[in-house]
Amino acid sequence: MRILVVEDEFSLADALREILKKEKYTVDIATDGQDGLDQALTGIYDAIVLDVMLPLMNGFQVLRNLRDEGIETPVLMLTAKSELDDKVRGLDCGADDYLTKPFQTKELLARLRAITRRKGEIESNIITFGDLQLNTGIGEISCTTTGKSMKLGLKEFQLLEFLLKNKNQIISKEQIVEKLWGLESDSEYNNAEVYVSFTRKKIKFVGSKVAIKAVRGLGYTLEEGK
Ligand code: CA
Repeated sequence: MRILVVEDEFSLADALREILKKEKYTVDIATDGQDGLDQALTGIYDAIVLDVMLPLMNGFQVLRNLRDEGIETPVLMLTAKSELDDKVRGLDCGADDYLTKPFQTKELLARLRAITRRKGEIESNIITFGDLQLNTGIGEISCTTTGKSMKLGLKEFQLLEFLLKNKNQIISKEQIVEKLWGLESDSEYNNAEVYVSFTRKKIKFVGSKVAIKAVRGLGYTLEEGK
């Protein structure tokens, strides 16, 4: 699990990093709101710990921007004790939970587990083929042998999902173009080739042996590989 901590107090950010690393989370730190938003927009995080009072952009603005961009990463907001309205405002902006400073480590970890589990329940639609898994909720592929994962772009995701759902068939470029761009589109068949090539690279990057095999004159099919 990868966690983004957005916190401008260096001592607290450092402490959080140590605590979370001990629990086997991978941790990235942002120390202002703008940097936090930029990192969060990558969509690669399983959860975000977000402070309210931050330089450049406060936590509420970060959260609202994030949700406006369609990023649904669970967010645990850190609010100061004196800011009683903060928790309400935070939940209004789309936070999944909040924690009042100062907090206990145990409490933080429990809340994090709860929000990541909640997210997992909604997005547990995993398609497996060979050593490759596609999480259709977050559009991410992972390899069951290397443990590596990677986010797919929208077209790459649609392409791979299409191939996986028709895994024992040969899919023509025409079908791919129709599926990804619609019947009425002017997209050329080489657009299909371009996205096949992008998707192949990502499958290779995560270390999977699955291959999108070209069948000459007919199209593409998935192979598990050895
Ligand atoms: Ca702060």
